[in-house]
Formats: sequence, C-alpha cells, structure tokens
Amino acid sequence: MATAERVVCEPSREPTVEAYPGLATDLGSLPITRLLPRSRRRLVGPWCFLDAFGPLRFDATKPVDVPPHPHIGLQTVSWLVEGEILHNDSLKGTGLARPGVVNLMTAGHGIAHSEETPAQNGGRLAGVQLWVALPDAHRETTPSFEQNGDLPQVALDGGTAVVFLGSFADATAPGRTFSPLVGVDLAASGTGPLCVPVDPEFEHALVPLAGSLTLGSDRLEARTLYYLGRGRTDIRLEADAGVEPARALLLGGLPFRESVLMWWNFVARTNEEIVAARDDWEAGRRFGEVLAYAGPRLAAPPFVARAVPGR
Ligand code: MN
Repeated sequence: MATAERVVCEPSREPTVEAYPGLATDLGSLPITRLLPRSRRRLVGPWCFLDAFGPLRFDATKPVDVPPHPHIGLQTVSWLVEGEILHNDSLKGTGLARPGVVNLMTAGHGIAHSEETPAQNGGRLAGVQLWVALPDAHRETTPSFEQNGDLPQVALDGGTAVVFLGSFADATAPGRTFSPLVGVDLAASGTGPLCVPVDPEFEHALVPLAGSLTLGSDRLEARTLYYLGRGRTDIRLEADAGVEPARALLLGGLPFRESVLMWWNFVARTNEEIVAARDDWEAGRRFGEVLAYAGPRLAAPPFVARAVPGR
C-alpha cells in the first residue's frame, strides 16, 4: 500500500459470523492469501495482519525470499503447518520456523529481518504470517526475537489446541505479549464435535487451515477469515469425516482500542512517525543490518500521506 491506512473498526459486541474471503496476491515469488487487514475488518483483538500461503511443493526454487526490511510498532508471528522458513535479523537473531516451532519478533522501536526458504528444505510449505499491533505503552519497546517450541497443548472435547501465542483455557504460550490475546492452532480428532472454550470478553476469528469444518449452519471455506465477534463462551465446530484431519487457526483478543496507522511494514499512529521510520531505513539508521542475508535489502516504496476517513 502506498498510502497509510487508518485502522478504524468497531468490534462487534455480540456473537456474529462475518465471512471475509482472502485476497489472492503474492509476496515476490510466493503466492499468498491476505486475510487481514480487510476494508471492513482491520483488527481482531490486536491481530492486524494475516497472510496465508501454501500448501505448495517445490524443488529447485526458493518460494520464500524476502530480503532485509524494517518493522516498527508490531510483533511478527510465523506459524507453519508444513516446511521451513529461516529468519535472520539485525540483532543477529536467527531461527528456523517449522511445524510446532513459532518465530516471534518484537519490532518495537525498530528492527530489520529477512525471511527465506533455507537451502536444506523438505520441498513443501504451508503456513501463516501474522502481525500483532503493540499498544501505545509498549510500541517503542526494545526489539527482540524469540523462538518457541514445546508449546502448550490443551486437550478439548473433540480435538486439541496448540497455543502458539497468548493464553487459552488454562495454558499460556511462552512468547512475550503486550495485550491480552490468543493464537491457537485447533485440530479436530474426528470423533464428535470440537468444543472450543473462549473468553467472552475477547473478539475472535477462525481461519480454516485444512480439512472441512462447519460452524452452526456455515461450512467454513478455505482461504477465508470468519470474524466471530464477542460474547461467546465456546465455539462448537463440526468436523466432517474426510481424508484430511480438520484444522483451523483461532485468533482473538481484547478489542484493541487504539487507532492504528499501517503503512508498508510499519504499525504507527501518525504520518510523521511513518515518514521518520521510512527516512531512517533509507538512510541506514535505526534498524541495523541483517548480516546473515546474502543480497541487497528492500528499498522502501514512496510514501504518500493521505487522510483516510474513519468509519
Ligand atoms: Mn517482515
């Protein structure tokens, strides 16, 4: 996006089911489906960005190759269903995201990173990249990178939940968080409905990852984000018997009450902050260098300030 987008969106007070089919686009050589932000639904709790990719198979190609680029004001979360993505950052942090192991980068005041398919790979890739907006009190925090495996698993009626960020049921993932949120990978066992207890104060969304799930009368479509609103104490999903076990992401959090401005890889509050961050990146200040990446870094696109009226 060349102009900054003001994120304004009123969380639903009631349970609802709003379907947002994703937008097909690409990230360099990687076809992706963008599920957040969407024009009518910008945030789910503090979750402000969601790209899904795969499943894909490859041999000699390198489907993910994102050169060094800067971030401010957010956390990036890489969660893979299949395959590997290698992260390197300007603090010399490095980590191979893979199934069951989440990469979590807190950009805060500013960090740069690259993401790429490693030379040693299994030739398959599927997963998501998510961003979490940092609240005002913490968005200038010191940048950091952490990688967490050994994530909490919660047994549910009809399946299991892996908590990759935040808190769910009685479990809390090890990653740093800055506002109340949940990020869970749900898997149905196929024996009866999957019953998912949720915090009624949180707003939630579901994103099907595999197999076939039904919520009430709605069969959940692939590459679609289902916004569920607030006020639920549980989500009951029917998993259709099939070859592929059903799986879905559950995202949520307390409604994020701050008005967020998103541009390129920045989550900010004002055009001035974005211009300053862009200038710092272009001048080689603030963000440091990603020494582990072999190749040139990304140049920032031109910034065009435009007031986007809120709704
Ligand atoms: Mn990034």
